[in-house]
Amino acid sequence: MRNLSKLPIADSGVKLEKPFLIAGPCSAESEEQVMSCAKALAKSGKVNAYRAGIWKPRTRPGSYEGIGSEGLKWLKQVKQETGLKTATEVATEKHVYEALKYGIDIMWIGARTSGNPFSMQEIANAMSGIDVTVLIKNPVNPDVELWHGAFERIQKAGIQNIGLIHRGFTSYEKLRYKNQPLWQLPIEMKRRLPNIPMICDPSHISGTREYLLEISQKALDLDYDGLMIEVHPTPDLALSDAKQQINPAQLADLLSQLIYRDQNSTDVNFIHILEELRAKVDGYDENLIELLGQRMAIAKEIGRYKKENNITILQKNRWEEILNKAEQQAAQYSLSKEFIDIVFNAIHIESINNQNAIMNNPK
Ligand code: PEP
Ligand code: MN
Repeated sequence: MRNLSKLPIADSGVKLEKPFLIAGPCSAESEEQVMSCAKALAKSGKVNAYRAGIWKPRTRPGSYEGIGSEGLKWLKQVKQETGLKTATEVATEKHVYEALKYGIDIMWIGARTSGNPFSMQEIANAMSGIDVTVLIKNPVNPDVELWHGAFERIQKAGIQNIGLIHRGFTSYEKLRYKNQPLWQLPIEMKRRLPNIPMICDPSHISGTREYLLEISQKALDLDYDGLMIEVHPTPDLALSDAKQQINPAQLADLLSQLIYRDQNSTDVNFIHILEELRAKVDGYDENLIELLGQRMAIAKEIGRYKKENNITILQKNRWEEILNKAEQQAAQYSLSKEFIDIVFNAIHIESINNQNAIMNNPK
Protein backbone atom coordinates (compact mmCIF):
# COMPACT_ATOMS: atom_id res chain seq x y z
CA MET A 1 0.00 0.00 0.00
CA ARG A 2 1.29 3.46 -0.86
CA ASN A 3 1.23 6.80 0.88
CA LEU A 4 0.15 5.59 4.27
CA SER A 5 2.57 7.89 6.03
CA LYS A 6 0.62 10.81 4.64
CA LEU A 7 -2.45 9.82 6.56
CA PRO A 8 -2.65 10.42 10.30
CA ILE A 9 -1.94 6.87 11.27
CA ALA A 10 1.76 6.87 11.85
CA ASP A 11 1.07 7.04 15.58
CA SER A 12 -2.19 5.13 15.61
CA GLY A 13 -0.57 1.92 16.74
CA VAL A 14 -2.23 -0.14 14.02
CA LYS A 15 0.02 -2.33 11.92
CA LEU A 16 0.39 -0.79 8.50
CA GLU A 17 0.30 -3.80 6.20
CA LYS A 18 -3.48 -3.45 6.00
CA PRO A 19 -5.22 -0.65 4.09
CA PHE A 20 -6.09 2.46 6.07
CA LEU A 21 -9.54 1.73 7.39
CA ILE A 22 -12.14 4.27 8.42
CA ALA A 23 -15.29 2.73 9.87
CA GLY A 24 -18.28 3.89 11.85
CA PRO A 25 -21.92 4.81 11.48
CA CYS A 26 -23.36 6.92 8.71
CA SER A 27 -24.73 9.25 11.41
CA ALA A 28 -24.03 9.80 15.08
CA GLU A 29 -27.44 9.13 16.65
CA SER A 30 -26.93 8.79 20.41
CA GLU A 31 -24.07 8.65 22.88
CA GLU A 32 -24.72 4.96 23.45
CA GLN A 33 -24.75 4.14 19.71
CA VAL A 34 -21.55 6.13 19.05
CA MET A 35 -19.66 4.68 22.02
CA SER A 36 -20.71 1.04 21.68
CA CYS A 37 -19.85 0.98 17.98
CA ALA A 38 -16.49 2.69 18.58
CA LYS A 39 -15.56 0.26 21.37
CA ALA A 40 -16.36 -2.76 19.21
CA LEU A 41 -14.32 -1.38 16.33
CA ALA A 42 -11.38 -0.41 18.53
CA LYS A 43 -11.36 -3.90 19.98
CA SER A 44 -11.01 -5.43 16.51
CA GLY A 45 -7.64 -3.67 16.16
CA LYS A 46 -8.22 -3.26 12.43
CA VAL A 47 -9.72 0.21 12.32
CA ASN A 48 -7.57 3.33 12.06
CA ALA A 49 -10.23 6.01 12.31
CA TYR A 50 -13.83 6.27 13.48
CA ARG A 51 -16.33 8.03 11.26
CA ALA A 52 -19.72 9.45 12.19
CA GLY A 53 -21.75 12.08 10.35
CA ILE A 54 -22.81 14.95 12.63
CA TRP A 55 -24.49 17.12 9.99
CA LYS A 56 -26.18 15.05 7.29
CA PRO A 57 -26.73 16.38 3.78
CA ARG A 58 -30.04 14.71 2.92
CA THR A 59 -31.43 14.66 -0.57
CA ARG A 60 -35.01 15.32 0.60
CA PRO A 61 -36.09 17.39 3.61
CA GLY A 62 -37.67 15.48 6.46
CA SER A 63 -34.97 12.77 6.58
CA TYR A 64 -32.66 12.57 9.58
CA GLU A 65 -30.43 15.64 9.31
CA GLY A 66 -27.92 14.76 12.01
CA ILE A 67 -27.53 15.34 15.72
CA GLY A 68 -25.50 18.52 15.28
CA SER A 69 -22.65 19.78 17.48
CA GLU A 70 -23.78 17.72 20.50
CA GLY A 71 -22.47 14.62 18.71
CA LEU A 72 -18.97 16.10 18.56
CA LYS A 73 -18.69 15.59 22.32
CA TRP A 74 -19.26 11.88 21.77
CA LEU A 75 -16.55 11.76 19.12
CA LYS A 76 -14.17 13.49 21.51
CA GLN A 77 -15.01 10.84 24.06
CA VAL A 78 -14.37 8.12 21.47
CA LYS A 79 -10.89 9.49 20.96
CA GLN A 80 -10.21 9.70 24.68
CA GLU A 81 -11.54 6.26 25.52
CA THR A 82 -10.46 4.20 22.50
CA GLY A 83 -7.56 6.14 20.99
CA LEU A 84 -9.19 5.95 17.56
CA LYS A 85 -8.76 8.96 15.28
CA THR A 86 -12.07 10.70 14.63
CA ALA A 87 -13.60 11.72 11.31
CA THR A 88 -16.68 13.68 10.34
CA GLU A 89 -18.15 15.49 7.35
CA VAL A 90 -17.92 19.27 7.10
CA ALA A 91 -19.95 21.28 4.61
CA THR A 92 -19.76 24.85 5.92
CA GLU A 93 -17.35 27.22 7.67
CA LYS A 94 -19.24 26.71 10.93
CA HIS A 95 -18.83 22.91 10.69
CA VAL A 96 -15.06 23.34 10.31
CA TYR A 97 -14.83 25.56 13.42
CA GLU A 98 -17.03 23.26 15.45
CA ALA A 99 -15.13 20.12 14.41
CA LEU A 100 -11.85 21.83 15.21
CA LYS A 101 -13.07 22.75 18.69
CA TYR A 102 -13.67 19.07 19.44
CA GLY A 103 -10.34 17.88 18.06
CA ILE A 104 -11.67 16.01 15.02
CA ASP A 105 -8.63 14.54 13.22
CA ILE A 106 -10.11 13.97 9.77
CA MET A 107 -12.65 16.26 8.13
CA TRP A 108 -14.16 14.88 4.97
CA ILE A 109 -16.00 16.86 2.36
CA GLY A 110 -19.13 15.17 1.07
CA ALA A 111 -20.17 14.44 -2.47
CA ARG A 112 -22.88 17.11 -2.46
CA THR A 113 -20.34 19.74 -1.39
CA SER A 114 -17.19 18.94 -3.39
CA GLY A 115 -18.94 19.87 -6.64
CA ASN A 116 -19.78 23.37 -5.40
CA PRO A 117 -16.85 25.78 -5.82
CA PHE A 118 -18.43 28.42 -3.52
CA SER A 119 -18.81 25.91 -0.68
CA MET A 120 -15.35 24.52 -1.34
CA GLN A 121 -13.77 27.96 -1.17
CA GLU A 122 -15.65 28.79 2.05
CA ILE A 123 -14.42 25.55 3.64
CA ALA A 124 -10.88 26.04 2.34
CA ASN A 125 -10.77 29.56 3.83
CA ALA A 126 -11.99 28.24 7.19
CA MET A 127 -9.31 25.52 7.10
CA SER A 128 -6.49 27.87 6.26
CA GLY A 129 -3.55 27.19 8.56
CA ILE A 130 -5.17 24.44 10.65
CA ASP A 131 -3.60 21.05 11.28
CA VAL A 132 -6.15 18.53 10.12
CA THR A 133 -6.41 15.74 7.56
CA VAL A 134 -8.90 16.49 4.81
CA LEU A 135 -10.48 13.83 2.63
CA ILE A 136 -12.40 14.98 -0.43
CA LYS A 137 -15.16 12.81 -1.81
CA ASN A 138 -15.83 12.84 -5.51
CA PRO A 139 -18.72 15.11 -6.53
CA VAL A 140 -21.99 13.29 -7.27
CA ASN A 141 -21.62 14.10 -10.96
CA PRO A 142 -18.80 12.44 -12.91
CA ASP A 143 -16.62 15.52 -13.31
CA VAL A 144 -12.91 15.01 -12.73
CA GLU A 145 -12.20 18.75 -13.10
CA LEU A 146 -14.57 19.64 -10.24
CA TRP A 147 -13.01 16.98 -8.02
CA HIS A 148 -9.53 18.19 -8.93
CA GLY A 149 -10.61 21.80 -8.35
CA ALA A 150 -11.92 20.94 -4.88
CA PHE A 151 -8.54 19.33 -4.11
CA GLU A 152 -6.66 22.41 -5.33
CA ARG A 153 -8.71 24.76 -3.14
CA ILE A 154 -7.88 22.72 -0.02
CA GLN A 155 -4.25 22.41 -1.05
CA LYS A 156 -4.00 26.18 -1.57
CA ALA A 157 -5.31 26.64 1.98
CA GLY A 158 -2.05 25.03 3.13
CA ILE A 159 -3.44 21.67 4.24
CA GLN A 160 -0.63 19.08 4.16
CA ASN A 161 -2.55 15.84 4.61
CA ILE A 162 -5.12 15.52 1.86
CA GLY A 163 -6.71 12.36 0.54
CA LEU A 164 -9.50 11.56 -1.90
CA ILE A 165 -12.54 9.36 -1.37
CA HIS A 166 -14.18 7.56 -4.26
CA ARG A 167 -17.89 7.10 -3.42
CA GLY A 168 -19.35 6.63 -6.89
CA PHE A 169 -21.47 8.83 -9.12
CA THR A 170 -25.23 9.25 -9.36
CA SER A 171 -27.04 7.79 -12.32
CA TYR A 172 -30.61 8.28 -13.49
CA GLU A 173 -30.97 4.64 -14.36
CA LYS A 174 -31.18 1.96 -11.68
CA LEU A 175 -28.01 -0.05 -12.11
CA ARG A 176 -26.37 -2.81 -10.04
CA TYR A 177 -25.00 -0.29 -7.53
CA LYS A 178 -26.73 2.81 -6.16
CA ASN A 179 -23.85 4.95 -7.39
CA GLN A 180 -21.87 3.99 -10.46
CA PRO A 181 -18.22 3.43 -9.61
CA LEU A 182 -16.86 4.67 -12.99
CA TRP A 183 -13.44 3.39 -11.90
CA GLN A 184 -11.74 5.26 -14.74
CA LEU A 185 -12.40 8.58 -12.95
CA PRO A 186 -10.56 7.84 -9.70
CA ILE A 187 -7.85 6.21 -11.82
CA GLU A 188 -7.52 9.49 -13.72
CA MET A 189 -7.27 11.35 -10.39
CA LYS A 190 -4.55 8.91 -9.29
CA ARG A 191 -2.72 9.63 -12.55
CA ARG A 192 -2.94 13.38 -11.99
CA LEU A 193 -2.14 13.24 -8.27
CA PRO A 194 0.03 10.15 -7.83
CA ASN A 195 1.10 10.99 -4.28
CA ILE A 196 -2.37 11.64 -2.92
CA PRO A 197 -4.00 8.71 -1.11
CA MET A 198 -7.20 7.31 -2.63
CA ILE A 199 -9.77 5.74 -0.34
CA CYS A 200 -12.78 3.77 -1.53
CA ASP A 201 -16.19 4.15 0.12
CA PRO A 202 -17.93 0.92 -0.93
CA SER A 203 -20.93 1.71 1.31
CA HIS A 204 -22.08 4.70 -0.73
CA ILE A 205 -21.18 3.09 -4.07
CA SER A 206 -23.16 -0.03 -3.22
CA GLY A 207 -26.20 1.45 -1.47
CA THR A 208 -26.91 -2.02 -0.01
CA ARG A 209 -24.70 -4.27 2.09
CA GLU A 210 -24.56 -7.14 -0.39
CA TYR A 211 -21.92 -5.63 -2.70
CA LEU A 212 -19.51 -4.27 -0.10
CA LEU A 213 -17.05 -7.13 -0.43
CA GLU A 214 -16.78 -7.14 -4.22
CA ILE A 215 -16.33 -3.36 -4.36
CA SER A 216 -13.75 -3.36 -1.55
CA GLN A 217 -11.79 -6.16 -3.26
CA LYS A 218 -11.79 -4.30 -6.55
CA ALA A 219 -10.49 -1.17 -4.79
CA LEU A 220 -7.64 -3.16 -3.22
CA ASP A 221 -6.83 -4.73 -6.57
CA LEU A 222 -6.64 -1.23 -8.04
CA ASP A 223 -4.12 -0.37 -5.32
CA TYR A 224 -6.30 2.00 -3.32
CA ASP A 225 -4.79 3.19 -0.05
CA GLY A 226 -7.77 2.62 2.16
CA LEU A 227 -11.45 1.95 2.70
CA MET A 228 -14.23 3.87 4.42
CA ILE A 229 -17.05 1.55 5.46
CA GLU A 230 -20.26 2.42 7.29
CA VAL A 231 -20.70 0.31 10.42
CA HIS A 232 -23.60 0.56 12.88
CA PRO A 233 -24.33 -1.53 15.99
CA THR A 234 -27.86 -2.27 14.71
CA PRO A 235 -27.81 -1.43 10.98
CA ASP A 236 -31.48 -2.06 10.28
CA LEU A 237 -32.45 0.51 12.89
CA ALA A 238 -30.07 3.20 11.56
CA LEU A 239 -31.58 6.64 11.05
CA SER A 240 -29.76 7.08 7.72
CA ASP A 241 -28.40 4.68 5.09
CA ALA A 242 -29.77 1.65 6.95
CA LYS A 243 -29.59 -0.72 3.96
CA GLN A 244 -25.88 -0.28 3.35
CA GLN A 245 -24.58 -0.47 6.92
CA ILE A 246 -23.16 -3.57 8.55
CA ASN A 247 -22.44 -4.38 12.19
CA PRO A 248 -18.93 -4.72 13.65
CA ALA A 249 -19.00 -8.54 13.38
CA GLN A 250 -19.97 -8.32 9.72
CA LEU A 251 -17.10 -5.88 9.18
CA ALA A 252 -14.67 -8.37 10.72
CA ASP A 253 -16.06 -11.05 8.43
CA LEU A 254 -15.72 -8.82 5.37
CA LEU A 255 -12.12 -7.93 6.25
CA SER A 256 -11.25 -11.60 6.71
CA GLN A 257 -12.45 -12.34 3.17
CA LEU A 258 -10.44 -9.59 1.48
CA ILE A 259 -7.36 -10.68 -0.41
CA TYR A 260 -4.37 -8.36 -0.12
CA ARG A 261 -2.16 -8.56 -3.17
CA ASP A 262 1.33 -7.09 -3.39
CA GLN A 263 1.96 -4.26 -5.80
CA ASN A 264 5.36 -5.65 -6.74
CA SER A 265 7.37 -8.80 -6.29
CA THR A 266 11.08 -9.36 -5.73
CA ASP A 267 10.89 -12.93 -7.02
CA VAL A 268 13.30 -13.00 -9.98
CA ASN A 269 11.48 -15.81 -11.74
CA PHE A 270 8.14 -14.02 -11.45
CA ILE A 271 9.66 -10.77 -12.78
CA HIS A 272 11.25 -12.61 -15.71
CA ILE A 273 8.00 -14.30 -16.79
CA LEU A 274 6.05 -11.05 -16.35
CA GLU A 275 8.56 -9.20 -18.53
CA GLU A 276 8.21 -11.81 -21.27
CA LEU A 277 4.43 -11.57 -21.20
CA ARG A 278 4.56 -7.77 -21.22
CA ALA A 279 6.89 -7.81 -24.22
CA LYS A 280 4.26 -9.88 -26.05
CA VAL A 281 1.54 -7.38 -25.09
CA ASP A 282 3.71 -4.50 -26.32
CA GLY A 283 4.19 -6.31 -29.62
CA TYR A 284 0.45 -6.79 -30.08
CA ASP A 285 -0.15 -3.12 -29.20
CA GLU A 286 2.28 -2.05 -31.93
CA ASN A 287 0.54 -4.33 -34.42
CA LEU A 288 -2.87 -3.00 -33.38
CA ILE A 289 -1.83 0.58 -34.05
CA GLU A 290 -0.24 -0.31 -37.38
CA LEU A 291 -3.40 -2.17 -38.45
CA LEU A 292 -5.64 0.69 -37.31
CA GLY A 293 -3.50 3.09 -39.35
CA GLN A 294 -3.80 0.86 -42.41
CA ARG A 295 -7.54 0.48 -41.92
CA MET A 296 -7.97 4.24 -41.62
CA ALA A 297 -5.99 4.82 -44.82
CA ILE A 298 -8.50 2.62 -46.69
CA ALA A 299 -11.43 4.40 -45.01
CA LYS A 300 -10.01 7.68 -46.35
CA GLU A 301 -9.70 6.19 -49.82
CA ILE A 302 -13.37 5.14 -49.60
CA GLY A 303 -14.18 8.72 -48.52
CA ARG A 304 -12.52 10.14 -51.63
CA TYR A 305 -14.31 7.59 -53.80
CA LYS A 306 -17.70 8.39 -52.24
CA LYS A 307 -17.07 12.09 -52.78
CA GLU A 308 -16.31 11.60 -56.47
CA ASN A 309 -19.54 9.61 -56.84
CA ASN A 310 -21.64 11.87 -54.57
CA ILE A 311 -22.55 9.15 -52.05
CA THR A 312 -23.31 9.72 -48.32
CA ILE A 313 -20.69 8.84 -45.71
CA LEU A 314 -22.93 6.76 -43.45
CA GLN A 315 -24.52 3.66 -44.86
CA LYS A 316 -26.45 2.11 -42.05
CA ASN A 317 -26.67 -1.41 -43.47
CA ARG A 318 -22.96 -1.57 -44.07
CA TRP A 319 -22.23 -0.44 -40.49
CA GLU A 320 -24.59 -3.03 -39.02
CA GLU A 321 -22.98 -5.71 -41.15
CA ILE A 322 -19.49 -4.74 -39.88
CA LEU A 323 -20.63 -4.74 -36.26
CA ASN A 324 -22.45 -8.07 -36.48
CA LYS A 325 -19.47 -9.72 -38.11
CA ALA A 326 -17.12 -8.29 -35.49
CA GLU A 327 -19.35 -9.46 -32.61
CA GLN A 328 -19.50 -12.98 -34.03
CA GLN A 329 -15.76 -13.21 -34.56
CA ALA A 330 -15.10 -11.66 -31.13
CA ALA A 331 -17.18 -14.37 -29.45
CA GLN A 332 -14.76 -16.99 -30.79
CA TYR A 333 -11.99 -15.25 -28.84
CA SER A 334 -14.12 -14.82 -25.67
CA LEU A 335 -14.29 -11.05 -26.17
CA SER A 336 -17.51 -9.58 -24.82
CA LYS A 337 -20.06 -7.93 -27.08
CA GLU A 338 -19.89 -4.76 -24.92
CA PHE A 339 -16.14 -4.52 -25.37
CA ILE A 340 -16.17 -5.08 -29.12
CA ASP A 341 -19.03 -2.59 -29.56
CA ILE A 342 -17.01 0.10 -27.77
CA VAL A 343 -13.88 -0.60 -29.82
CA PHE A 344 -15.72 -0.70 -33.15
CA ASN A 345 -17.80 2.37 -32.37
CA ALA A 346 -14.61 4.29 -31.65
CA ILE A 347 -13.08 3.08 -34.94
CA HIS A 348 -16.27 3.94 -36.82
CA ILE A 349 -16.41 7.48 -35.39
CA GLU A 350 -12.78 8.06 -36.36
CA SER A 351 -13.51 6.80 -39.91
CA ILE A 352 -16.55 9.06 -40.20
CA ASN A 353 -14.56 12.06 -38.96
CA ASN A 354 -11.86 11.34 -41.53
CA GLN A 355 -14.35 10.84 -44.36
CA ASN A 356 -16.21 13.98 -43.31
CA ALA A 357 -13.00 16.00 -43.51
CA ILE A 358 -12.39 14.65 -47.03
CA MET A 359 -15.99 15.27 -48.20
CA ASN A 360 -16.05 18.82 -46.96
CA ASN A 361 -12.59 19.78 -48.09
CA PRO A 362 -13.16 22.12 -51.06
CA LYS A 363 -9.95 20.88 -52.81
C1 PEP B 1 -21.70 9.90 4.23
O1 PEP B 1 -20.50 9.62 4.19
O2 PEP B 1 -22.48 9.47 5.07
C2 PEP B 1 -22.25 10.72 3.13
C3 PEP B 1 -23.27 11.54 3.28
O3 PEP B 1 -21.60 10.48 2.00
P1 PEP B 1 -21.68 11.11 0.53
O4 PEP B 1 -21.26 12.54 0.64
O5 PEP B 1 -20.69 10.27 -0.20
O6 PEP B 1 -23.08 10.94 0.03
MN1 MN C 1 -24.08 7.53 4.72
